[in-house]
This record gives sequence, C-alpha cells and structure tokens, in this order.
Amino acid sequence: MTDLPSEWTHEPRKILQFRPGSKVGDIDPNSSPGYRGAKNGSESVQAERNTRFAGLQEMLYANGKAGDKRSLLLVLQGMDTAGKGGIVKHVVGAGDPMGIRYTSFGVPTEEERAHHYLWRVRKALPTGGHIGVFDRSHYEDVLVVRVHDLVPRDVWEPRYDEINAFEKELVDSGTTIVKCAMFVSLDEQRRRLAERLDRPDKYWKYNPGDVTERLLWPAYQQAYQAVLDRTSTDYAPWFVIPSDKKWYSRLAINELLIEALKSMGLSWPPAGFDVEAEKKRLAQA
Ligand code: AMP
Ligand code: MG
Repeated sequence: MTDLPSEWTHEPRKILQFRPGSKVGDIDPNSSPGYRGAKNGSESVQAERNTRFAGLQEMLYANGKAGDKRSLLLVLQGMDTAGKGGIVKHVVGAGDPMGIRYTSFGVPTEEERAHHYLWRVRKALPTGGHIGVFDRSHYEDVLVVRVHDLVPRDVWEPRYDEINAFEKELVDSGTTIVKCAMFVSLDEQRRRLAERLDRPDKYWKYNPGDVTERLLWPAYQQAYQAVLDRTSTDYAPWFVIPSDKKWYSRLAINELLIEALKSMGLSWPPAGFDVEAEKKRLAQA
C-alpha cells in the first residue's frame, strides 16, 4: 500500500535509481522524471509530504529512545548551487532538529588531513534513532580530490572499493543509506551563481572558487560517472536527482526519505511500563 501523491506516475526510488550503464551526460537536469505535476501546485504536495516525513522521523527517534540502534543517513552530493542546502532547509528541515545530525564536509582541516579520509566521516555518523545528513561527504575524496589530483591516482583509485566496504559495514550495523547525486545544468548553475553576485544577501553563498570548479565541469562529469558506476551497490544505491527545478528535486528527495523510513517497518514503541497502573498512580498523585 502506498500513499504516494497521485502526481507521481512512477515510484521515485525506482525511476531515480542509477541504472548500471547509464551515462551522466544523458541526464537532463531540467527534467522531472515520474512526476506529472507542475511547479504550480507543488507547494501543497510538498507541505503534505513534509508532514509525512516529520511523522516518520519522530517515530524513528522514538524507537531510538527505546533502544533501537537503527538510523538513516542521507548523503547529498552535487556541484555548487545544485541545491544541497535547499534540501537541508526545505526537506530535512521539516523534521525535529532533536533527531537530525547535520554535517557539511568542506576542505579538510589540518587535523582532518592528518587522519584517514574516513575519520571525520565516522565521527559524523548518526546514532540510533537519528537521521544523519551529509552535505558533501566521503565522496569528495574521489571527486574534488580526483579532479584536482590532490593525491596520486594509486591513492584515490582503491577508495571506491574502500567506500563500498565502509558503507556495507554501516548498513550491516543498521543504517539505511540514501545517496542522492544532484545534477544541475551549466546554464542553470550560471544563473544561480549570477544571482548570488547580484544580491548582497547571497554573497555569503558565493565562493570565487566555484567558477574555477565550473571550468572543470567535464572532469567532474567523469568523476561523477565513476562514482555512480563503482559505488552504486544493492545495499546503498545512488539516486540521480535532476535539480534544475528546485521544487522537483525537493519533492523527489522527500519521497526517497519517506520510502526509506517506511521500509524500516517502524511502529510506535510499546510502553516500557504498565499504562493502566500508571494512570491510577497519576490520578492519586
Ligand atoms: P561548500 O559545500 O560550498 O561549503 O564548499 C565546500 C568545499 O570543500 C567544496 O569546494 C568541496 O569540493 C571542498 N571539499 C570537500 N571535501 C573535500 C576534500 N576531502 N578535499 C578537498 N576539498 C574538499
Ligand atoms: Mg559552495
């Protein structure tokens, strides 16, 4: 039984899952796969699904309080302006901060550089009942690092297998992983960067380095292709999110989170006390 809004013609987790052999160059960032609704009208769908997500998140948190060790990890990857922050604000933000563990991964600090690249990632993992959100992630260690030759090939090359093993370990210990690769077009990225330069309230989001990365688009496409080809596993598949339409990428990732939470088969944890006896005690207290 599904409660998917009728605007969806296909289940997001099926239509967006990366298919082996498909090419990054064939992704249309302006498309809205599986969704027949328009931007107009998407707000009310989003509002309803925000509420659905929040309800499931609370249930996960409640189970965590009752000792359930399971957790959810949302991995957001994408070029600058792809909309990772918007997912955090408008999708995950509908949940209760008490149960959310948000981490953004930037250029490693000196301390982080002194450790294995997964060190900072392990420290940021969600504990039982929590939803972890990675705004960028360990995948930067095979994306920016590969594109800029920050370490030699014989160092980054084995990382794909190492990441797969790492994620297998997480899944086996009760973490459901939802990996979203957000794809924005070069044109749309130009518009979004231009807007950041036009508005003083957006300067803080602009980084001159974003233009440098933009010039390396083909190299990034290649690096993303390798990530999708080599780290989309049956236990932690990648979802490819067309992201030129912000309203679509938000709806899509919202559904992926709902589906992941539903697949955990959660219910409200039973009382760890005698409810009737407590009612009597309270009445007399
Ligand atoms: P932002 O997401 O806009 O805050 O930018 C963070 C920056 O940190 C991006 O340019 C990333 O490519 C960069 N970054 C993240 N992880 C790494 C890493 N492991 N090595 C080098 N740069 C990184
Ligand atoms: Mg940025």
